[in-house]
Amino acid sequence: MSDNVVIICYIIAAILFILSLGGLSNQESARRGNWFGIIGMLLALVAVTASKEVTAYGLLAISIFPAVVIGGFLAARVKMTEMPELVAILHSFVGAAAVLVGLSLQQDSTAVHHAGIAGTIHNIEIFVGVCIGAITFTGSIVAFAKLRGSISGSPLLLPARHLLNLVIVVATIWLGMEFVSHGVIENPLVPLLIAMVLTGILGIHLVMAIGGADMPVVVSMLNSYSGWAAAAAGFMLGNNLLIIVGALVGSSGLILSLFMCRGMNRSLISVILGGFGTGDGGGGGAVQTPEGDITAIEAGATAQLLNEAKSVIIVPGYGMAVAQAQHTIATITKKLRANGTKVLFAIHPVAGRLPGHMNVLLAEANIPYDIVLELDEINADFASTDVVLVIGANDIVNPSALDDPNSPIAGMPVLEVWNAKDVIVMKRSMGTGYAGVQNPLFFNDNTSMLFGDAGENVDAILADM
Ligand code: NDP
Repeated sequence: MSDNVVIICYIIAAILFILSLGGLSNQESARRGNWFGIIGMLLALVAVTASKEVTAYGLLAISIFPAVVIGGFLAARVKMTEMPELVAILHSFVGAAAVLVGLSLQQDSTAVHHAGIAGTIHNIEIFVGVCIGAITFTGSIVAFAKLRGSISGSPLLLPARHLLNLVIVVATIWLGMEFVSHGVIENPLVPLLIAMVLTGILGIHLVMAIGGADMPVVVSMLNSYSGWAAAAAGFMLGNNLLIIVGALVGSSGLILSLFMCRGMNRSLISVILGGFGTGDGGGGGAVQTPEGDITAIEAGATAQLLNEAKSVIIVPGYGMAVAQAQHTIATITKKLRANGTKVLFAIHPVAGRLPGHMNVLLAEANIPYDIVLELDEINADFASTDVVLVIGANDIVNPSALDDPNSPIAGMPVLEVWNAKDVIVMKRSMGTGYAGVQNPLFFNDNTSMLFGDAGENVDAILADM
């Protein structure tokens, strides 16, 4: 393929990626956005493979075929609840790729050696690419382990953690100067490798310091880092499409992180520097433990309450994803709406384990988009609602976020479901949610607990309606 055709393919692919991101920002156009992305990626792969720069087709086939088989197998097998882990591990691959590209370019004796300022810029690209890649790689591995539950989700707070981060950053900058100017250390590989290890430790430390309910911001920040790592690899390889795609992923991940921070009422800088979700909520005292009696309810009585209600708000959470209850919920919604009941869905920005997790599940069950509302659109409506059905949600409906300054989720805006006439919470036990905080909502007079798997319970409610 001639260079001009490759460039045209790159431009079309870049446009498709921009259209893809535009499509993915809205539920109704998300499917189309996904297709734009798939076609753009296919076009990019074909153009790269057919370009003059690629000649080692045997080697390419040996690396691509196992990757396609393993990737396809994992994607087909992954459960919706395991999606965040999959995303985290995929981010780590981008980080690893940037590190490997940087190291191999540094070691490649056949590579064109740029002289003067061009050489310095090329070396800076390699150094920055390796460092961003290393942070993304190790940070994503820790996020993967935390989301999977292989390591504790609570924050690791070393006594002088900010000083440790600062020392690593300063040392990395010095190593970068050494790498470029060969001052004290003659072999440039040495500062590069030391910086790779140091920034790898920084990635581990930054994500280890974040815990509980603040993890969503970390997941979207690592998404952003993986974009910058890809852009850095693009600079190293002189590949314009990789630079564009990396910048798109990096900046859209950053915008998503800002949205998530707004949803959590956190500052982005503090999350990047690590150390939120400290477990003391900044209030300086002990976390309050809710006490009192709880009221249990059966599926039959819940069905009756729903049948009699004029207005119902459904609040889905992570447990709905586990129970895969969205399809029966869609049928219940249809039935209620056919009876003239007003039904709305309330979505918290960090519900589930992935940004947009609940929207995806509700879209999969064909719930109409116009009855699915965001936290700030719906919070005032609870006071005039007859029944709120909380399905497998916990942290996002926890009033201690507003009432208890010592709570790890203090300050996080929550869905104020307790203002409704009746609240029914569906979960299996009195267990806590992701942030590990007890929920006083369960002890309120107007709250009834419908214990058991949400999937089985929604089936029973539907049968009794
Ligand atoms: P939570 O994790 O707070 O609560 C989920 C609840 O679902 C649990 O208390 C559990 O209780 C219940 N549950 C689990 N399985 C079932 C089942 N089969 N049937 C019925 N109930 C079930 O979820 P929320 O959605 O309320 O909040 C999300 C939390 O996850 C927040 O803390 C958020 O910060 C965090 N997070 C979000 C991410 C994102 O990007 N959205 C990423 C990472 C973390 P029980 O065991 O008693 O059944």
